[in-house]
Formats: sequence, C-alpha cells, structure tokens
Amino acid sequence: MTTSRPIDIAIIGSGLAGGLIALALRARRPELRVVLVEGSDHAGGNHLWSCFTSDVAPGNRWLIEPLIVHGWGGHQVRFPGQDRTFDTAYASLTSERLDAVLRQTMPAGDLLLGRPVAALTPTSATLADGTTIEARAVIDARGPGDMAALDLGYQKFLGQSWRCDAPHGLSRPIMMDATVDQSEGYRFVYVLPVSADRLFIEDTYYTTGPALDEPALRARIADYARAQNWAGAPDGHEETGILPVCMGGDIAALWAAESPGVAKVGLRGGFFHALTGYSLPDAVRVALAIAAMRDLDGAALHGQIEALARAHWKGQRFYRMLSTMLFRAAEPAERWRVLARFYRLDPALIGRFYAGRSTFTDRLRILTGKPPVPIGRAIHALGAARI
Ligand SMILES: Cc1cc2nc3c(=O)[nH]c(=O)nc-3n(C[C@H](O)[C@H](O)[C@H](O)COP(=O)(O)OP(=O)(O)OC[C@H]3O[C@@H](n4cnc5c(N)ncnc54)[C@H](O)[C@@H]3O)c2cc1C
Repeated sequence: MTTSRPIDIAIIGSGLAGGLIALALRARRPELRVVLVEGSDHAGGNHLWSCFTSDVAPGNRWLIEPLIVHGWGGHQVRFPGQDRTFDTAYASLTSERLDAVLRQTMPAGDLLLGRPVAALTPTSATLADGTTIEARAVIDARGPGDMAALDLGYQKFLGQSWRCDAPHGLSRPIMMDATVDQSEGYRFVYVLPVSADRLFIEDTYYTTGPALDEPALRARIADYARAQNWAGAPDGHEETGILPVCMGGDIAALWAAESPGVAKVGLRGGFFHALTGYSLPDAVRVALAIAAMRDLDGAALHGQIEALARAHWKGQRFYRMLSTMLFRAAEPAERWRVLARFYRLDPALIGRFYAGRSTFTDRLRILTGKPPVPIGRAIHALGAARI
C-alpha cells in the first residue's frame, strides 16, 4: 500500500474492541498514525451493547460517553416468587453510533471499510484483494476466532426492537425475567424500554451447544410481549448472539491458535466475562491500557497485551468456576435457582460481580449458605474441570 506516512498501528476489525482502541489512541496518542481495517462496509457490526455504568471505572467513562444512546437510572430482575429493583445505572451503545463516531474521528483514508483481511503477521496485514499493509504493530480485533482451547458453554439470544401500539409503561430495563419456561436450561427475557412506545426484547438461554433456533426465539418473544399485554410488532432491528461462557481451558493455547505473534484483543484475545460472555468493560480497560503503553512495536505490543490477557484469565477463575457449577452441577431446569439466589445478595456485590471485580468477601458470600446445586455434584464438576 502506498502511503505518505508510515503506519504505527494497524487494527484489524472495527467492532467493539478495535473501535474503542482506535478512539482511545486518537484521543491519547494523536501523534501516532492508526489505521483501522474492517471487512464489512460499516464499522461496529450489528449490536446493542449495554453495561452497568459501574462496570467502567469513572476515569475511563469518557471513552464510551459519545457512544451512549440510551441510559437508565436503575433496573429490575424477576424470578419465580421474587421481583427486585435496583438503582444501579445502566447504559446502551449502538453499532450505528460507533460507526458514526469512528467516521468523524478517523482521518480520511485511515478507516478502511469493505476491506476483509486474509492473513496477519506482527507487522503486516494482507487483505483479501492482495494488498499488503505494513505497520510497526498489528492488533487482531476480528471478534471470536478459534476457541477450541477453551471449555465452553453458550449464552445465546435473539433480540428484536418492538414498536408498541400504546405506551408500554416500563421505566427501567428488565435485566432478567426468569419467570418464563425453564425446562431447557437457564432462560430469561431481557427488556430495554428505549422510548415510551418502543422496547428492545431479547430471549436468552444458556445451553451447552452453540445452535440457535431463531424462529423459535422470535415466537417466544411474541408470546412474552402478549403475556405482558404489549400489543405491537417488531419494527425491523434484530440481532443474534452466541456468546462464550467459559468453564476452563488454556489461555496460552487460545493465543497460539491463530496468527502467532500477533496481539489479540476483544473476544479473540480472551477478554470477556467468563459467565456472561460480555466484553464491553474489558474492551474499555484494554483500549486505555494500550493507549498508555510506551513501546508500541509489534513484539512489545504483543507481549504487553498477552500479559493483560493472562492477568485477565487469572482474574476470571472464580467466574469460570461459577460457569462450571451452572452447567455441570445444576440440573438444566433448576439452573435459574443459582441466579435467583445471587440476585438476593447486596447490590454493591452484584455490581462488582458484573464488573469482574468481586472481592474475596464477595466470593465467600456468593458461595456460602444453602447451595442451590447438589454439593456432591458441584465437587465432582469442579474436580473434573480445567478451570
Ligand atoms: C448481538 C450481540 C449483543 C451483545 N451485547 C453485549 C452487551 O450488551 N454487552 C457486552 O458487554 N457484550 C455484549 N456482547 C458480547 C461482546 O461484547 C460482543 O460480541 C463484542 O462485540 C465483542 O467485541 P469484539 O471486538 O471482540 O468483536 P466484534 O465487535 O464482533 O468485532 C469484530 C469486527 O471484526 C470484523 N472482522 C471480522 N473478520 C474480519 C476480517 N477478516 N477482516 C476485517 N475485519 C473483520 C467484523 O466485521 C467486526 O466488525 C454482545 C454480542 C452480540 C453478538
């Protein structure tokens, strides 16, 4: 590729992780030339990403603030015989907004859309059209790759935007409504009230396999809306997810599986919450850590980001253990009890859990008391796992 100025960092993939790194580097290291290469004709993919405001450290929130499209002052959960509301603020970002902000922020010619990448080295990317981009360092942000090194279950969902014929009356998101049928395994409906007459409704379930039956989920959403007396219909936007829920594995093998020597971020690098598959808080943290790194040459960048991935893996051990208990110790139809019990705990503890920052005392609190899974099966499942 002929360019007037050498490229310092080529980020491959303009989704959540790659997009946030590009924005963090533009803000914090404007002297660097950063090129963002995306296979699709727009940045960001097709997502509504959400998180609790407390998942992101106050000093880091500036990075996602321009991307926030909806925000709420609290949320609620529903389990059989148990409704609870929380005041923890929640916010949603959209792919469209990330696309728009990247188009505004990246200098002309440094956001390359519709350019799928075929192969990577630590200092070059070969595009499918045969063009080669040379850079001091390459970051692979192409989303989930070969995850055979991990022992996974799945959190799967289909979400639809709904227009209601009359105001729906919901003022806070329903994070989990697990009063729905639980016979297949842990299942819940997630609802975001995005305006007075619009909802985002998602049917979510945890199972051991990655297959997603989309027509069945659309039918379940319609049934749920009917049961809530929300007359209306889907209004176009639909998204699906098959997110990894990690019970164990080998982080070094995950990194070695593809493009050896190339720094990996986002789901590809293992930066996600082991029980929820969510990666937004980690993507913010990693983007700002990269923007603060002094040595950004290929090998140095790889070493520093891999060290972050290993530290993250170590820090996720507790959540891998809970994933193992959820999938391997609890009967599918009884899995909801694990979450119902968790949602009876202190809101601050729940907040630290989603942020991946559970303290030692939190961990004890989560594990003590009358266990919602048979203790013998839990011990057996944990003993067999490579957590
Ligand atoms: C529908 C959905 C909703 C989700 N909601 C949430 C949420 O609310 N909160 C949360 O924390 N997590 C959520 N997640 C989980 C996770 O945070 C997201 O999957 C997140 O987008 C992962 O970030 P990423 O950067 O690793 O991958 P992605 O965001 O998927 O980005 C990968 C990018 O790489 C591009 N790409 C792929 N291959 C190539 C190639 N060969 N050449 C060039 N470009 C390529 C893709 O087009 C894409 O733009 C959601 C996931 C899905 C699927």
